[in-house]
Amino acid sequence: MNPYRQIPKVDKILNDESFKKYNRYILSRAVKEEIKTLREDISKGKEWSKQELYKNIKRRYHSLSSSSLYKVINATGIIIHTNLGRSPIDSEVFDSVKEIATKYCNLEYDMQKGSRGDRYTHTAQTLKELFGCEDVLIVNNNASAVFLILNTFAKNKEVIVSRGELVEIGGSFRIPEVMRASGAILKEVGTTNRTKISDYKESISEDTAMLMKVHKSNYKIVGFSQDVEIDEITKLAKEKNLIDYYDLGSAYIPPLPYSLSNSEPSIMDILKNQPSLVSFSGDKLFGSIQAGIIIGKKELIAKLKKNQILRMFRVDKITLAILQQSAIKYLKKEYEKIPVLNMLFTPLEELEKRAESLIDMIQDGFIYHTSSFVGGGTMPEAEIPSVSVALKGNAKELQEAFRRENIIGRIENEMFLIDMRTVKRDDISVIAKAYNKIKE
Ligand SMILES: *Cc1c(COP(=O)(O)O)cnc(C)c1O
Repeated sequence: MNPYRQIPKVDKILNDESFKKYNRYILSRAVKEEIKTLREDISKGKEWSKQELYKNIKRRYHSLSSSSLYKVINATGIIIHTNLGRSPIDSEVFDSVKEIATKYCNLEYDMQKGSRGDRYTHTAQTLKELFGCEDVLIVNNNASAVFLILNTFAKNKEVIVSRGELVEIGGSFRIPEVMRASGAILKEVGTTNRTKISDYKESISEDTAMLMKVHKSNYKIVGFSQDVEIDEITKLAKEKNLIDYYDLGSAYIPPLPYSLSNSEPSIMDILKNQPSLVSFSGDKLFGSIQAGIIIGKKELIAKLKKNQILRMFRVDKITLAILQQSAIKYLKKEYEKIPVLNMLFTPLEELEKRAESLIDMIQDGFIYHTSSFVGGGTMPEAEIPSVSVALKGNAKELQEAFRRENIIGRIENEMFLIDMRTVKRDDISVIAKAYNKIKE
């Protein structure tokens, strides 16, 4: 007998009682795809059953009809976790832009003149106020900011960068390669561990357009090392009538706890000496949405705006609206509305309380004092004290089991830890529930 004739007809499956509540369109896709797979299996002589087929259809239906992106609980303690979506956005900030996103808005419409307006002015105005700078331009992310700046000011010209700063940021963003793609010519100066201002000075030629500094972000050179601060580079650039540019990567405004501010100057300190251009990410320590924020001299920002490539790095109204709302929170000094800062500033006593409440709920584990990192290629060395709940048992197995419940923890000293630095109060009962499920 023809083995394929055993396969139930599509219509019959669609009308089966067990699929009554399913959406017809998605169900019929799932059925057709599963039947195709089944035919291939049969051709290979594989055994099958109707029960199994129905189970597979259901599984495919659910994967087709649900988002593959979902909320997870970050129990790693790493605040800016690029793999987990980098900076979360404050829910009040997010809600406040709903009308702008779901209705029409004055994005590029001048309400006074009744004619076309400029999308960039809205948010730039607030950011200018915040940073006290001449002008601001917002692009898709900091990588596009780097590309746009190099392409605008240094195409076919030389850009002087220290050898110690030719970094690769996670996700294959390499300065030398971005530079090549932008058309700029890289001129490396100094050595891996030491670069002096005289190295920049001696390398300036007729072909030089820019002196660039790149934040080392995710690594540190220790021992016999030296690099040049942006102030010195700015001063030299002014003398030689060149543009100086600092790819800062991540920027923060208020003084940070745990002496983090000692290892890195704030964006306000960097701007004091009026560098020509600085850029950083909107979703690292700045704690807002993905964006590249370029701060600079008015005439330079005007040139960036004239580059056709800007159109390709253009940001959406949602990005502009959220960034503006975050900037307003900064102006009001409502730092608790910047989630990244809120987590960083949460006192250890509060973290202890969270840990105790989890231990109370699960009647297992113990408080374990630890330290975590800022993450996201920001302050790679700076450790932040934290409090976690350590669970007894095989750490690897626990990590996997919690991961199946969408909770990402970390292993330290062969213990599985739930680090409270990045866990919200509301998340604690969710973690307890997951724990009970795992232990069943
Ligand atoms: C993170 C980082 C980038 C890339 O920024 P994105 O916003 O991720 O595009 C570029 N340069 C430096 C120094 C960085 O730290």
